[in-house]
Amino acid sequence: MLEQTLRDVTPTARVAFEDAEVGPEPRPSRAEAEAAVRTLIRWAGDNPAREGLHDTPARVVRAYEEWFGGYRRDPAKLLGRRFATSGYDDLVVLRDIPVQSVCEHHMAAIQGVAHVAYLPGDKVVGISKLARLVDTYARRLQIQERLTAEIADTLQRELDPRGVAVVIRASHGCMSTRGVHTHGTSMVTRRLLGDCLLEPFRSDILKALAA
Ligand SMILES: [Zn+2]
Repeated sequence: MLEQTLRDVTPTARVAFEDAEVGPEPRPSRAEAEAAVRTLIRWAGDNPAREGLHDTPARVVRAYEEWFGGYRRDPAKLLGRRFATSGYDDLVVLRDIPVQSVCEHHMAAIQGVAHVAYLPGDKVVGISKLARLVDTYARRLQIQERLTAEIADTLQRELDPRGVAVVIRASHGCMSTRGVHTHGTSMVTRRLLGDCLLEPFRSDILKALAA
């Protein structure tokens, strides 16, 4: 496996849910979406009317509902239910959260794992909520850098912890299946906020979250 590039993610001002717009046009109908798939099949060089492809447009559109289900979820609301820390003041770390996303440049699969850590203030959230937060942002058209930043920034904004760290390691279908065919390459991105940027937490966290 080739060694990855480690990229620190620059802050983005992009806010999640309100960006889930479809531009000035209304959202297309299911029939329009299926027609678009038939167009792409023809563009690829096949006949959408042949038997094996007959139901494909409907299947693709159903798959899109799952792959892009993140547009219909509000990440801030996910973290709504919090619990008192009851004296716990060290790192909370959730490793190896599956990341299934789609790159916004080629609409090819991005697959990998996310590690999420935070230093609680006076509240914590259920660990399933952290996994759900990752999934909500992943199931949109993404670049890995923004995905990393959105998860970290939302956690910081909604939970107000002393610090947050997010590390994602993922491979990109657009790299492994086309162009330079760098099979086995993965990219690592990270975003550290608040006290997670300071020693001794920084070293602890980067060790705990080594991708
Ligand atoms: Zn791509």
